[in-house]
Formats: sequence, C-alpha cells, structure tokens
Amino acid sequence: MSHIVTANCNDCKYTDCCVVCPVECFYQDDTMLYIDPQDCIDCEACVPECPVEAIFAEANTPAQWTSYIQLNAEKCAALKGSGDGHITEKQDAKEGPGCTGKK
Ligand code: SF4
Ligand code: SF4
Repeated sequence: MSHIVTANCNDCKYTDCCVVCPVECFYQDDTMLYIDPQDCIDCEACVPECPVEAIFAEANTPAQWTSYIQLNAEKCAALKGSGDGHITEKQDAKEGPGCTGKK
C-alpha cells in the first residue's frame, strides 16, 4: 500500500505535505506532486497537512481518481530515474489556473 496524491494537487503545489514526510518520498513535475509507493510507509503524516485534501491512502482513493495510483508510481519512477523532482522542502505555492484550494 501507499498514499496517493490526486487531482486537487493540480496546479497548486502548496508543498506543506512533503515537509513532514519521514521518508522523503515526494516528487514533483510542472503539474503536481506525487508519492513514491516504493518508499511511502503509510504514516499518514502528510494527509492533514494538505489544504485541498489531495492525499488519500491507496485503498481509500475516490473512484474517480484511482488512475492516480498508477500515475504516482509511474511519475515517481521516471522522476527518480532522471534525478529530478525530489522535493523535501516547502516552496512558494503555484496557485495556477487548475488550483482548487487557494488559501
Ligand atoms: S499539500 Fe496537497 S496540494 Fe499541496 S503539494 Fe502537497 S499534496 Fe499537493
Ligand atoms: S503517508 Fe507518510 S510516508 Fe507516505 S507520503 Fe505521507 S508522510 Fe510520507
């Protein structure tokens, strides 16, 4: 099992989540953040940190977002392989046009 970042993270990237992760398993591209299922230990620390409720336990991922389970795994594998996108510190929010949780 793992935790999964889903659609509400699109264009948002508040990045509060990655700061609390004890195993530093968040990666990002231009669109959103992803959790590496190889490293996530399901501690749930990141879940309450996300202001737009984008993070779910894999087993509780809402039906409309189950495709994100594979997406998180694929994106993390690619980003990890390229040496890009590892994120462990908070950065300025993107709040792009797809962001649904401006605060
Ligand atoms: S806090 Fe939520 S919306 Fe922000 S980067 Fe993390 S998962 Fe995405
Ligand atoms: S559940 Fe825990 S280990 Fe998994 S991504 Fe969130 S903070 Fe990291």
